[in-house]
Amino acid sequence: MAAGRELVVSFGEMLIDFVPTVAGVSLAEAPAFLKAPGGAPANVAIAVSRLGGGAAFVGKLGDDEFGRMLTAILRDNGVDGGGVVFDAGARTALAFVTLRADGEREFMFYRNPSADMLLTADELNVELIKRAAVFHYGSISLIAEPCRTAHLRAMEIAKEAGALLSYDPNLREALWPSREEARTQILSIWDQADIVKVSEVELEFLTGIDSVEDDVVMKLWRPTMKLLLVTLGDQGCKYYARDFHGAVPSFKVQQVDTTGAGDAFVGALLRRIVKDPSSLQDEKKLVESIKFANACGAITTTKKGAIPSLPTEAEVLQLIEKA
Ligand code: ADP
Repeated sequence: MAAGRELVVSFGEMLIDFVPTVAGVSLAEAPAFLKAPGGAPANVAIAVSRLGGGAAFVGKLGDDEFGRMLTAILRDNGVDGGGVVFDAGARTALAFVTLRADGEREFMFYRNPSADMLLTADELNVELIKRAAVFHYGSISLIAEPCRTAHLRAMEIAKEAGALLSYDPNLREALWPSREEARTQILSIWDQADIVKVSEVELEFLTGIDSVEDDVVMKLWRPTMKLLLVTLGDQGCKYYARDFHGAVPSFKVQQVDTTGAGDAFVGALLRRIVKDPSSLQDEKKLVESIKFANACGAITTTKKGAIPSLPTEAEVLQLIEKA
């Protein structure tokens, strides 16, 4: 990572989730829906910015009211939107999401195709990407062309310019043609990342083993990596670096809605890493940074929605001090 740079550039989708106004109904039963801006990479950029860090978002939106609404959200949250382009033909992606009374999640996506899937390599803001200290991305942008090629090109540009690559696959099975295709494509860029974060569910999906024991996690470790993280919800997370590994518990909070906890965790950790890159080699510093990220994730679960519940640095420090 180039010295003195602190910008986190997040690449991928930004969209609107429509969530029922009442809990525990199917999509068909929902009387009305609330708009909740989201998309994991955009959430990460806003998380970094809310913590006082420099953040930019690279992606494509529809040239429509929702696209303009999302750009305003980036701007109002201090995220550099210089990497956002608009598609005149396709709409901003929408996702209708509900948690039914039987515990099943129901999704309905409007991506036929949506603007985010149509980003081309030629539309990349190369100068912005080159300024990244960390370049962060997920796997949804790998699902369809031309976005997939743009994604791979952006990773290349960032790496060549000296950025650390950060990868949170954020598995959304329903968006892939098959489970096998999802696994293959998600792992196709595994070896390029410096920092990888997976959830417990993703660990099982990728390894085929329902366990978070070290030998299972190590199946996802690569010698090229600097840090591998497995987040465990209210249990905190496990970390694996070249010379050390361990676990860091999270903080006790009143959980309301876990949406965005993982993105808040990633944003907080990346913020700490760009501030002090030596934390990747120093276990004591890394554990402090992970504690900060856990606290950030925990706070995000205490309110409804992802973006509205992302904390400031002062709020995170307050939770850590109180504990
Ligand atoms: P994802 O959203 O990617 O599934 P997790 O749900 O594991 O990720 O949450 C990410 C991090 O946020 C966890 O590692 C933990 O630090 C924190 N976190 C999440 N849920 C809670 C909770 N209920 N209580 C405390 N911390 C939480």
